Amino acid sequence: MDGAGVLDALFSTNAAPILLIDPGRDGAIVDANPRAAVFYGHSLDRLRSLHVWDINQLGRAILPAMREIASWEGGHYPQRFHHRLADGSVRDVQVYAGPIHLGGRKLLLCIIHDITAVIEAEQFNRLLLENVQVGVCGIDRSGAVTFVNPTAIRSFGFRHESELIRSHIGRFLFRDSFRGGPDEGGPDQGGRSHPVFRVAEAGEPVRDIETVLYRGDGTSFPVRLTASPIRNNDGIVGVVISFFDLTEEREREAQASDLANALPGAVFQAELHPGGGLRATYFSTAAASLFGVRPDADLTAARTLAPVMTLKGWARVRRGLRQAGRAGRVWEGEMEIAGGRWVLGRAQPRRRNDGTLLFNGVLLDITDRKGLEAELQQAAMHDPLTGVWNRRRFQQAVGEAAARLERYGRPYILALMDIDHFKRFNDTHGHQAGDDALRVVAATLSDRLRRSDALARWGGEEFALLLTETDLPIALGVLDALRQRVSAQRMACGGAVTISIGVGQATAGEDIDSLLQRVDAALYKAKATGRNRVEQA
Ligand code: GH3
Ligand code: MG
Ligand code: MG
Repeated sequence: MDGAGVLDALFSTNAAPILLIDPGRDGAIVDANPRAAVFYGHSLDRLRSLHVWDINQLGRAILPAMREIASWEGGHYPQRFHHRLADGSVRDVQVYAGPIHLGGRKLLLCIIHDITAVIEAEQFNRLLLENVQVGVCGIDRSGAVTFVNPTAIRSFGFRHESELIRSHIGRFLFRDSFRGGPDEGGPDQGGRSHPVFRVAEAGEPVRDIETVLYRGDGTSFPVRLTASPIRNNDGIVGVVISFFDLTEEREREAQASDLANALPGAVFQAELHPGGGLRATYFSTAAASLFGVRPDADLTAARTLAPVMTLKGWARVRRGLRQAGRAGRVWEGEMEIAGGRWVLGRAQPRRRNDGTLLFNGVLLDITDRKGLEAELQQAAMHDPLTGVWNRRRFQQAVGEAAARLERYGRPYILALMDIDHFKRFNDTHGHQAGDDALRVVAATLSDRLRRSDALARWGGEEFALLLTETDLPIALGVLDALRQRVSAQRMACGGAVTISIGVGQATAGEDIDSLLQRVDAALYKAKATGRNRVEQA
C-alpha cells in the first residue's frame, strides 16, 4: 500500500480527528479528515488553509518540536498539547504523530485524541486526594508503597512522596520495623501478620478498625483505618489504605474525661425515650461514691441505680426531665437518695431525630447543704430553748386558721398561757432551773396535741396554743386538763409551777389582733381571780 492508500484508509476508517501536516512548509495543514473538521469546528477547506501553530496553543514554538518528531522514523509518539477550536475554546489533546511519505514529500500524520474529560477527572482525583484529611496510600502485593497522598506523607512525618515510594508499608504498621531509607528494600516481617496484609492475601476489605501507625521516627499515632484490595484481571495487585488520624479526637475525649473527673461532682449522660424509659449511658468515676455504690458497679445498668431512689423519686425525675426537654431548658432537680443523702442534678437536653431526649449533665452531693437548710428552717421556725414553734411561725398558723374561718367557716380556738409567779420560781431555784421548768411546761403542753394544733412560746414564760376544728366547750375541757397536768409535774429542782390560761373562740369577721386582745384580757382575769385557772374571753 502506498502513502496515499494508507492515508485514504486512515481517513475513512478512523473515528479520531486526523491532520496531515507538512513540516517543510512552515507546518501547513495539508489535509484533514471530516472528523477533524467536526472537532475543530472549521470547514475542511478552512482547515487546509491553516498552519499547525494556528491551532496549537504553543504557536510557532511548536515548529522545532514538530520537525524533531518528523525526523523520527517508525511508530507514532503520543504528545500532550492544548488545541484551540474555531469557537476559541481549548481542549486537552493527546497527539499520535509520525512521519509519512507522500508524493515524495515527508509529511506528519497526526491522530488527535480529545482527553479533556480524562484530564479533568485526573485533576479531580488528584485534588481530592491532596485535600482530604484522610491519609491515603497504595501498596503493591509485596507491600511496597506505590502511592501516597500529602496527608499520609505529613502523618508519617515526611516531606516528599519520594521518601516513601517503594519503602515497605511494614515500617508504618509495626513498632520495631526496618528504619532504613527508601529504595533500600523492604523489611523482613518475620512472618508477622497485620490486617492490611490479610487484605492483600484474602481480598477481604477491612473497615474502620482502630489501631496505631508508626511515623518514620518510630513514634506512633492512633488511627481509624480502612483497607481495600485493588484488583485487575490477574487478581489482587495491591491494597489501598486510608486512615484518619485520631490524635485530636482522642485528646478531646481525654479532655472531656479529665474535666469530668476534676469537677466537684459527677458527670452523666442519659436518654429519655418517647415511651418514658430512662436510661443512663455514661457516668464519670465520681458517680459511684455519690450514689454510695461500689466503685466497680455498672451504673448504667438499671438494677444498680433503681434501689438508690424510691419509685416516686424516679417518677419525679422522669417528669422533670420530660418537662425540661419539652421546654428546651436546663433540667434541675434535687433528689433524696438512699442513706438520707441528697443529690442535685442539672442537665442540658438535646432532642435526637428519633424523638429521644439526650441529657448531658452534672450531679452534686448537696447532703451538707440540705442539712444546713433544714437547720436554718428549724431555727427560723422554732424557739431554741423549748423546741416548740416561735411566735413568728405561730402567727403564720393563726393567719392560715383565720383564712379557713373566712373561707369555709371553720372555727378555731386561741389560748394564751402564763406561768404563775415565775419570777419567784427563778429567785428560789435559780435561772437554770427556770429554763428547765420552761422546757418541762412546753413538753407537757405539746404532749397531747393533735397534728393540726399548734403550740408556741409567745414570750418569756408565756405560751400560745391554737386549736382547730374545736368548739369552746371542748376546748375548755382540754385546756383545764393541760392546766392540771402542768401543776402535777415535779421539776428536777424539786419545785412545781402552775399556769393561768385565757381562751377565746374566733368569730367570723373578727381580726386576729382583737381576738388576741380578748384572750389576753381573759388571761389577765385568770391572774386577777387567783391564778392556776382557765378564763374564757
Ligand atoms: P405572774 O405572771 O403570776 O403575775 O408572775 P410572774 O412572776 O410570772 O410575772 P412577771 O411577768 O413579772 O415575771 C416573769 C418572769 O419570768 C420574769 C423572768 O424572770 C422570768 N422569765 C422570763 N423568761 C424567762 C426565761 O427564758 N428563763 C427563765 N429562767 N426565766 C424567765
Ligand atoms: Mg408573764
Ligand atoms: Mg408569769
